[in-house]
Amino acid sequence: MNQFPLSRRSDIGNKIRVSFEFFPPKNDDMEARLWETVTRLEPLRPQFVSVTYGAGGSTRERTARTVKRILQESTLTPAAHMTCVDATREEVDQVIAEFAAMGVKRFVALRGDPKEGVGAAYQPHPGGYANGAELVGALKAQGDFDISVSAYPEKHPESPDFATDFDMLKRKVDQGATRAVTQFFFDNDLYERYVERARKAGIYIPIVPGILPIHSFGQVANFASRCGAHVPGWLAERFEGLDKDPQTHALVASAVAVEQVLDLVERGVGDFHFYTMNRADLVVAVCHMIGIRPQPLVQGAAAA
Ligand code: FAD
Repeated sequence: MNQFPLSRRSDIGNKIRVSFEFFPPKNDDMEARLWETVTRLEPLRPQFVSVTYGAGGSTRERTARTVKRILQESTLTPAAHMTCVDATREEVDQVIAEFAAMGVKRFVALRGDPKEGVGAAYQPHPGGYANGAELVGALKAQGDFDISVSAYPEKHPESPDFATDFDMLKRKVDQGATRAVTQFFFDNDLYERYVERARKAGIYIPIVPGILPIHSFGQVANFASRCGAHVPGWLAERFEGLDKDPQTHALVASAVAVEQVLDLVERGVGDFHFYTMNRADLVVAVCHMIGIRPQPLVQGAAAA
């Protein structure tokens, strides 16, 4: 019998799969930083790396350019985020076709947020896809893609109750979604309870926790309140007084993220999706702690 907790077993890294999320850069400086991050994270051999699509479809060109560069200049497998905001069905179908022609085989399908940002009332485009489930259907109509969708351990802020949320998640699975990635959360009990309830609701796809390493606690707390993610009091206390002390802030953020991920490993979780914010340091530290170490680069050799 192995007396170590799961998270301390030396072979744990072989059993864990990770994916990384980036956002498309707005200018040359941001592009250089993203590419530095991609280069540092690439040897960790993520299952895929995803590139977000801005509110209101505002980053369509930049998302496409970033995905294309990843395909052409790295060994990574990109997943393109897509939303249905402010676009007709024909326009969305066209974007899917363009990604497919580029060689993209993975997508993250989302309804998206209104142009005005998170929290504004959502109005589907009259001639467009109404929600994530319809978008998954549109993707599947064009190819046998690997499709991830969203899940909300604390319920989507617009949703009246969990039953409505599970109903939507089930519709996305029925349309062909193969994996759900969660909104970020800081209380692992909420995630565990959510997965149990999803299974009871007949949803059996992997529900991968979305982990947000905290680069700026102030910004995260602000964003969390708009997307319905709870920031526990103990977490706020850990970052108390560190606004003007970036070095300690970074060390604490690393400890917090490691603690969250190791606890999830102990609970049997083997897949993790990291919201990198286009920065490598914290993600590299957490991956190191779960036994994921740099590997030689081989084209198309993403972890299975
Ligand atoms: P859906 O799955 O379509 O719906 C979400 C919930 O809203 C449902 O569970 C349901 O409860 C409720 N709902 C929807 N329609 C109805 C209805 N007709 N009646 C009642 N309830 C309804 N946003 C971006 O703009 N770009 C991105 O790249 C992006 N990436 C993301 C990645 C992940 C992993 C996650 C978790 C979120 C991401 N988002 C992104 C945010 C996402 O677009 C928002 O959370 C948006 O508000 C909902 O999109 P969705 O696909 O979750 O919606």
